[in-house]
This record gives sequence, C-alpha cells and structure tokens, in this order.
Amino acid sequence: MNLWSNLQKTKPTPLQAIFDKKWASKGVRLYIKRDDMLAPTQGDPFCGNKWRKLKYNLLAAKEQGIQRLLSFGGAYSNHIAALASAGHLLNFKTVGIIRGEDVSNHTLDRARADGMELHFIDRTTYRNKNELSFLADLQETFGPCLIIPEGGTNQLALKGCADLVEEIFNQSIKKPTHIAVSCGTGGTLAGIISGLKGQCQALGVSVLKGDFMTKEVNALLDEFTEKSQSNWHIEEGYHHGGYAKKTDELLSFIDVFHEKNNILLEPIYTGKLFYALSQLLEKGFFAKGSIVVAVHTGGLQGLSQ
Ligand SMILES: *Cc1c(COP(=O)(O)O)cnc(C)c1O
Repeated sequence: MNLWSNLQKTKPTPLQAIFDKKWASKGVRLYIKRDDMLAPTQGDPFCGNKWRKLKYNLLAAKEQGIQRLLSFGGAYSNHIAALASAGHLLNFKTVGIIRGEDVSNHTLDRARADGMELHFIDRTTYRNKNELSFLADLQETFGPCLIIPEGGTNQLALKGCADLVEEIFNQSIKKPTHIAVSCGTGGTLAGIISGLKGQCQALGVSVLKGDFMTKEVNALLDEFTEKSQSNWHIEEGYHHGGYAKKTDELLSFIDVFHEKNNILLEPIYTGKLFYALSQLLEKGFFAKGSIVVAVHTGGLQGLSQ
C-alpha cells in the first residue's frame, strides 16, 4: 500500500498489556499503546505522535495543492526530522527554521539528507516565530508554503491525536481510567484531551523544567477546542533536570524496562513517562482497579544520537 493511503486510513497500533508484579500488587493494570510502530519503515523519524500530528496537515496540504512545508524547531527536534522525512516520502519541499547556530548532529543530518532546506536563526529572532509579519517574511523568502508551528502543534495536529482516544476505546474491553502521555509542547496531550469521553482522565508528564506545561495546554485547549475540559492533569516533577537531561536512575529504569518487557524507550520522552508512572504507582496515585494506558509516542530514531 502506498504511504498516502496508509495516512488516510491509519491502521490501529497494538494496545499491549504489560505484566509486572509491582503493578499487579497494587491492583492496577498497565497497557502500552504502541504508536512507536506507526512509521513508513522501522527507524523512520516520521513516526509515533509525529505521524499523528502531521497526518491531517499533510492531507490538507495535498488537497490544497501546496508544494512546500515550513516549520520550526531546535537542533534536536524530532518534529523537524519527521517533517523532512514526510516531505521526502510524499513529495513536498520542506524548510526547517532552526533555533540557534548551525550545527551538525544526527537529527539535522537526517533532515538534510531528506532534502530539507535548513535555515538557522538566533534565539531572539526565533521568539518571533508566531508573529504574522515574521511569517509573511518567511513566505516571501521561501515561496508559498504551509507554515506549521513548532513541534507541529496546531488544530489539525490535535485532530490527529484525538484519533488515538477513539482507537484506544475501540481496542479496550474494559474502558481505561487514565490515558498517559509525555509532553513537549503539550500538543499531543491537548489532542487526547479533546478526544476524551466519559470517565477517562488524561495524564501528562512534562519533560521540561519550569512548571509551565499546565498553562501551555490550557492555552492550546482555549485556542483549538470548544468545550472546556477538566478531566486532565500534568505531573511537572519528572523532567530529570530539564529537556534532554538524563539521570542514571532514568537510564537504568529504561534498561530494566527493556529487559522485562522487550520494549525500547528513549530518555527524552517515553523513558520519563514510564519512570513517572512507576513512581506515581508507588505513591498510591492510581486507585485499585485503575486501568492505565500509556502512549509510546516513538522517538526511537533519536537513540542513535
Ligand atoms: C515530540 C515528541 C513528544 C512530545 O509531543 P508534544 O505534542 O510536543 O507534547 C513526545 N514523545 C516523542 C517521542 C516525541 O517525539
């Protein structure tokens, strides 16, 4: 099947039970939603939640005859690498506006190899990335294009992530009580919240330091959704020092998780999510009988950094 039809009809990713004595002893069940398997080929950066977030943007761009996609990110942005790969596979030109100095690393080299035109701007200028006059200048410089915000978070991205909820509900015999996900921009969580029905709670784990994720997600919900939602919560204390920072404890948790379950996690997003869930379980955060679905958002291509 070609990638366009795969995009249009995204097949549900597996919802896999995790068997673990620690969880069983508390009477809580843990499932993992294997969005890490969502990719054109294994190891492609166009994967996981980046597939969900780009899906409707790519379909809309095709429909509107747009030939160029432009977006923003840091030098290690999974979103930038995902957009470059999607552009390469689906025949769009791509432009990445990168915060900071011109550097070479695995993420950016991959984006370049996928034909993305990279443009580095200083941190002060980068702060204008949402201003209309700045965006108009970019259109002028690079030609007509669809501009996708940093991290890929926009209305269509939320729609793509809301699909996750429907999939999870269709796959569950007993409805989950919690759907948990890690938060970078909070777009994936906001999409999940917008798709929630009934009793289920959304639980976000921020991978950034600074206690601002709740505010960010509230702003996204205000901007992109109609109903106000209260059935969600963000844990801000599991960033391990900040974005892309790692502790030995986190790395050994990831190793043990891999040994026990034969599932790879990476330290930037999914490792921090599962570490947090394990700590929350110990603290009694989940009532007996809870059913927790944690979304594996992918990002494994970043492991080869
Ligand atoms: C980008 C990314 C996230 C964060 O998604 P947001 O929608 O920005 O919160 C989580 N996990 C992985 C693997 C990612 O690449």
